Amino acid sequence: MKIICIGRNYLAHIAELDHELPKEPLFFMKPASALLLPHNPFFYPDFSQEIDFETELVIRICKPGRSIEERFAHNYYDAITVGIDFTARDLQRRCIEKGLPWEIAKAFDSSAPIGEFKKISELHNPSEIGFGMKLNDQWAQQGNSRDMIFSFDRIVSHVSHFVTLKEGDYIFTGTPRGVGPVHVGDKLELFLEDESVFWFRVK
Ligand code: ZN
Repeated sequence: MKIICIGRNYLAHIAELDHELPKEPLFFMKPASALLLPHNPFFYPDFSQEIDFETELVIRICKPGRSIEERFAHNYYDAITVGIDFTARDLQRRCIEKGLPWEIAKAFDSSAPIGEFKKISELHNPSEIGFGMKLNDQWAQQGNSRDMIFSFDRIVSHVSHFVTLKEGDYIFTGTPRGVGPVHVGDKLELFLEDESVFWFRVK
């Protein structure tokens, strides 16, 4: 199983971090050890002073594929949820400045909490999927799939031209605006449309 993450997929988030508009989807990966299992807290790592949440829709790959054409891409994912792409922003800033890989800022243990999946076919409008995260019971981030620069189909097609996708792989599809820091003691709760799909604490 692998976790693929798309960067810079919402205009307002690109603006808040002062990044360039991408011409094609940008992706990086997290290992299986980045998953945060249910009923576990997220332990704030000692190598960073600036862990940010990025609340994202996550799709699940349902059959193997490579070099998938965009028009067939919808056959390769069938379930969706919300996850957090935890980012050590201080380390990432240094990586970007020096042109270094992002793994130390993105791929660390428990950096990928993922909620319970729902079948995409059960959503009332699969082209406008609302999602969000409550930090200590207040909305911290809210987004909608209609604001994505690159669609799920485009993402699946693009990634599969470089990396073979397998059943059970996860793709984080980018964060909307409103990313921010977490602190020890915080409670994060993830919502797919109006439904709570996961919650955990920072310890
Ligand atoms: Zn992200």
